[in-house]
Amino acid sequence: MATKQPKVVLVTGASSGIGEAVAARLVREGHRVVAGARRIDRLKALADRCGDLLAPVRLDVTDRAGVEAFVRRARELHGRVDVLIGNAGVMPLSRLDSLLVDEWDRMIDVNVRGLLHGIAAALPVFTAQGGGHFVTIASIGAHQVVPTSAVYSGTKYAAWAITEGLRQECDPSIRVTTVSPGVVTSELAGSITDPGAAEAMRAYRATAIAPDAIAQAVSYALSQPDDVDVNEIVVRPARQR
Ligand code: NDP
Repeated sequence: MATKQPKVVLVTGASSGIGEAVAARLVREGHRVVAGARRIDRLKALADRCGDLLAPVRLDVTDRAGVEAFVRRARELHGRVDVLIGNAGVMPLSRLDSLLVDEWDRMIDVNVRGLLHGIAAALPVFTAQGGGHFVTIASIGAHQVVPTSAVYSGTKYAAWAITEGLRQECDPSIRVTTVSPGVVTSELAGSITDPGAAEAMRAYRATAIAPDAIAQAVSYALSQPDDVDVNEIVVRPARQR
């Protein structure tokens, strides 16, 4: 399905799960996607499936200069950037008394600093262009805390707050959307090392929806007229409470 207004869309964390589904859907809709993640082999395989509309670029969102280079690469390829989808994230859940401090740091680095690096790199470009669209993939964890999710939820509350602040501060030519998924099939729980948290997640994540459900929500936000800003979408399995 080709779109009437093809956009240049950057997706962070496009090598699996939601980011991969978003990239694939947007290519199917005719957009030009620059897909970033650390696992370049996975991105190249995605590019093989998607064709010329998808450019794979190695990206570590914790590296500020690397994120700047990612945005620069998109401009070299396409001359502009219309949308930045801040999707890269990690979720090594654990109780605070497990003291997995390195994992707390990693969540802060990827889920918060990584998001901010994207905003810092793209905001001047959007301002100079007189338009752009930030989409943050937050989480249902941006709205609730459960045991083992304190730090992860903290990073997602932060992602929600940063994105809402961005919305309020931005020129109206720049649109800002937060998409908060519930349980979605992906590799996300694979980063949990704490045995108790991993066991609890197996039951919690037994009911999941396909990542394309989130991709459809992103597509909806992107496809609105320029003067319509979809601020927030929550998408979760019908069975999830
Ligand atoms: P996946 O683990 O399948 O995907 C995570 C993506 O983030 C991968 O592409 C990974 O790529 C990328 N990533 C991780 N660290 C970095 C980094 N330092 N630099 C660049 N990319 C990185 O999980 P999901 O698809 O589920 O997660 C996507 C987003 O959705 C996350 O922000 C997550 O918090 C959020 N979310 C997911 C839910 C779910 O149930 N699945 C529910 C709510 C929110 P690579 O390792 O190749 O770098």
